[in-house]
Amino acid sequence: GCPGRILELKGNIRVLCRLRPGTPSSLVSSEPGLDGSVTTCYRGHRRRFRLDWVFPPDASQEEVFRELEPAVLSCLRGYSVCIFTYGQTGTGKTYSMEGPPEDPGIAPRALQSLFREMRTGGQHQVTLSMVEIYNEAVRDLLAPGPPERLAVRQGPAGQGGIQVAGLTYWDVPNLETLHQMLSLGRSNRATAATAMNQHSSRSHALVTLTLQAASSTRGSGTTGTMGYPAPRREPFCVGHWSSQRSCSLAPEGTLHLVDLAGSERAWKAGGVCRARGDPDDAQRLREARTINRSLLALGGVMTALRSRRAHVPFRDSQLTRLLQPALGPGATAVLLLQISTRPEDLGETVCSLKFAERVG
Ligand code: ADP
Ligand code: MG
Repeated sequence: GCPGRILELKGNIRVLCRLRPGTPSSLVSSEPGLDGSVTTCYRGHRRRFRLDWVFPPDASQEEVFRELEPAVLSCLRGYSVCIFTYGQTGTGKTYSMEGPPEDPGIAPRALQSLFREMRTGGQHQVTLSMVEIYNEAVRDLLAPGPPERLAVRQGPAGQGGIQVAGLTYWDVPNLETLHQMLSLGRSNRATAATAMNQHSSRSHALVTLTLQAASSTRGSGTTGTMGYPAPRREPFCVGHWSSQRSCSLAPEGTLHLVDLAGSERAWKAGGVCRARGDPDDAQRLREARTINRSLLALGGVMTALRSRRAHVPFRDSQLTRLLQPALGPGATAVLLLQISTRPEDLGETVCSLKFAERVG
C-alpha cells in the first residue's frame, strides 16, 4: 500500500494491528493493509474485526515504522502524538516499541527520523522524560537518585494540565544522548523487573519527547553547539508534565511512546488467588486489578473521545491522567494492537480485538 496513509484517516484515534509470527492457525486469519481485518474462530463463532491497518505476521520493523513515520514527524509541526502498544504479554509489544538492537522498533526509529528531519529543517529543542506506572504508582525512570513514587496532581486552576511533582525533564542535544538516556531508563525498568517477578509485564512505560522550536526555547540555559542548550544534569523543570503549559508560548509538539502492561484479564490472576490465598497471590491480584483499571480507563477515555462525549473520564487512572493532554482535541492517538495466532491464546486475542473495536 501507500506508506503513512493512516495519518490521513479521519478522527483522532487509529487502531493498527500486528500479528505475532508463529505457527499459522486457521483460527486467526488476517487481511492486511489499509482497512484490513482479522477474523477469529472462537468456540465455533466466526467474527471479523475491522481495523485501520493490519500488519501480517511477516511484516518487518521497517514496514511498521513506515506507516507511523508521518504521524511521528507531525510532532515537529506542533502536533501531539501518542503511540501505544497494547496486547497480551508475549505478543510483541516491547518488540514493536523497542525491538532488539539489531532490528530496532518504533522508539529508536522515531528518534532517528526526528533528528534527521530536524537537521534538515528548523532547529528544535528536544526534552525527554520517562516514567513507569506500576500499581498506579508513578516512578521517574530517569531520576538521578533512587526512583521514588511521584505525586500526580491537577495543575493550577485555569492553567489546566497535570503536574507530576519532581519529575525530571532532560534537554537532549543529540541522538546519541537520547539513545543513552533511553537505555538508562530501560535498564532502570529492568532492574525493577528482576526485583519483582514479572514486573515489566504489569507496568506501563511512557517515554515523552517534547519538541520545541529553538527560537522559543524556555529557560536560560547556555547555548551549546547547533543552537541547542547544553545538556542539563539537573531537573530544570519540576512539576510539569503537560505540553499545554507552553501551548500559548510556542509551537511545541509532543510524542508519547507507551509500552502498555499486558492486557490479560484479571480473572486469571484472581482465580489463582482465591484458590490458594497466599500473600504473594493477593499481591498479584491487586496488580492485575490496577492494570486492568488503567487499561479499562484508557478504553473508556478513547471510547468517550471517539463518540465525542462531553465527559471524558481522564481521572479514572494514572495512565489517563498523565496522557490527558496527549489525548485531547487535535491530538493523534495510535493504538498498535499486538495479537497472537496461537490457539491457546484465542480467548485473549478476541478480547484484544474487542477492545480495539470499542475504541477505534
Ligand atoms: P510483550 O512485550 O508483549 O510481552 P515481547 O515483545 O517481549 O512481548 O515479545 C515476546 C517474544 O516474542 C520476544 O522474544 C520477542 O523477541 C518475540 N517477538 C515478538 N514479536 C516478534 C516479531 N514480530 N518478530 C520476531 N520476534 C518477535
Ligand atoms: Mg513487554
